[in-house]
Amino acid sequence: MTKERSAFAEVNEKVRQASEILGLKPGLVQALQQCEREVVVSIPLRRQTGLEVLTGYRVQHSSARGPRKGGIRFHHEVNLDEVRALASLMTWKTALIDVPFGGAKGGVAVDAKSLSDIEREEIIRRWTRSIHHVLGHQRDIPAPDMGTDSRTMAWLMDEFHRLEGFQPACVTGKPIELFGAPGREESTGRGVAMIAAATLEKRNEKVKGARVAIQGFGNVGRFAALVCHQLGFKVVAISDITGAIVDRKGIDIDEIINYRNVSEIPLYENIPLHEVLEQRCEVLIPAALGGVITSDNVEKINCEYIVEGANQPTTTEADVELRTRGITVVPDILANSGGVMGSYFEWTQNIQQYSWPIEKFRKELDARMSRAFADTFKESQKHNVDLRTAAFVLAVQRVASAFSLRGDLV
Ligand code: NAD
Repeated sequence: MTKERSAFAEVNEKVRQASEILGLKPGLVQALQQCEREVVVSIPLRRQTGLEVLTGYRVQHSSARGPRKGGIRFHHEVNLDEVRALASLMTWKTALIDVPFGGAKGGVAVDAKSLSDIEREEIIRRWTRSIHHVLGHQRDIPAPDMGTDSRTMAWLMDEFHRLEGFQPACVTGKPIELFGAPGREESTGRGVAMIAAATLEKRNEKVKGARVAIQGFGNVGRFAALVCHQLGFKVVAISDITGAIVDRKGIDIDEIINYRNVSEIPLYENIPLHEVLEQRCEVLIPAALGGVITSDNVEKINCEYIVEGANQPTTTEADVELRTRGITVVPDILANSGGVMGSYFEWTQNIQQYSWPIEKFRKELDARMSRAFADTFKESQKHNVDLRTAAFVLAVQRVASAFSLRGDLV
């Protein structure tokens, strides 16, 4: 998949545009664009094939509004530029949904699919040992992302506890049995589905029967599919790295939800992976990788709305083209913010040592997602800009104001 600009440059371009609308001074804009701290570590790993030395990262973009927050990703394409971009996106996401966090992101460059459980555990423990001095519930709180899950977070927490003592809020996305919060696992996908429904309703379009195509069947895509199905959407296509299926009458998500890989799902027509993005539908949800909607394939996109479940799935050039074609894009920092909202709920419960029932979690999540959607929509009307620009304007304004009030600059 081609990318027209580096991932970090793409985010900084959005920050520049928002700052221009807000009339921020150049020095402040520069401070908002740069990352506060970057840690790069080597992770030696003994494998059956011999010793391999992996590279691990933690980038802390901003703590202006609170402890830094962001996931850790195991993927072979992880690199410093991408981690910087994702850390920066977290700053804007947490500001947009108004939770008291800054932004960070971590990663290890490794093919997650090739790892045994023992290797995965070894990697996250070594990453934690190398980085724990900058982590903690009031400093920087990791969470799962691509290639990592609640089990990985349990090992991270365990290693952190050995080094720093008991502190369950040092990481979110943990198993329920180990200080996790019922509702957190589904929260990103649930938020994506709720935002898709809110978008249609805002345009007086029916949710019931509206067609959805979803790329990715991992944490985000799977729960987005399930909740879309529950809300009455017709999920017509889904894919993962192993395969893609389509059914114009609608896929029975309840039937297929427990399949690990899409290629194992029987009874549906198989299509090439890239065709999921090109399906005729009302809502397209990219929920796998970044940089999948580019100037190379934007002409083939055949939907009315794109709700960005993944981070940075649309390049700037493709975004412009989609706008000229009248396709509305609901940006990642709004669409997939249910994950960090859910992490915030888990963090507060850990700190209070008080658990919420899942009904309360879902109710709070839905209410706060709907407020963030309404705020972004209102901002887009105020400045007469698209939703992505509006989301960045709101977020940049909040971070800039916190940064300036602290007296760091100007
Ligand atoms: P995951 O590892 O659980 O799932 C990723 C999915 O993408 C898998 O189903 C994989 O098979 C699929 N995939 C990979 N390459 C593909 C390809 N070429 N075509 C089709 N499918 C492909 O990861 P996740 O946690 O679901 O994250 C997905 C995206 O959502 C990432 O961009 C991530 O940064 C973003 N995100 C995740 C969360 C979260 O809470 N997990 C929160 C916000 C944003």
